[in-house]
Amino acid sequence: TNRTFTMLKPDAVENGHIGAILEKISASGFRIVAMKLTQMTKADAEAFYAVHNERPFFGELVEFMTRGPIVAAILEKENAVNDFRTLIGATNPADAAEGTIRKMYATSMGENAVHGSDSDENAAIEGEFHFAGREQF
Ligand code: ATP
Repeated sequence: TNRTFTMLKPDAVENGHIGAILEKISASGFRIVAMKLTQMTKADAEAFYAVHNERPFFGELVEFMTRGPIVAAILEKENAVNDFRTLIGATNPADAAEGTIRKMYATSMGENAVHGSDSDENAAIEGEFHFAGREQF
């Protein structure tokens, strides 16, 4: 069993999709290890997405990720990182497979409803970024 980290992004929260997305995550066999509604500061988002800081969309990404609350969560399942990325679908919802969370709830490449860690190492780093040990169950 291992873990991944997710954020339901500001668009998903604004559009009222928290319940539906969490239902889909639970129904897909993920256990919630930690979860909260929170809002990232500009400094938080710049640090979280530091790997993208040279990309042309970096400013837009930071602006978007800080404009309202997100749901941050740590999820546990066998093969968590890969299975969760399959569940959320391609970065661009236009390319996302039928039935994936991004196909169902994302609005654009930038505003794509949900984040999923891309490796076990990043899942651990991202989970630690948002949660203290005593918030993880
Ligand atoms: P995430 O890291 O959020 O799970 P991802 O791994 O599918 O997404 P990345 O390439 O790591 O995609 O990009 C991180 C995030 O930056 C994307 O989820 C999206 O919100 C935003 N992004 C990526 N490419 C673009 C783009 N061309 N224009 C605007 N925003 C983009």
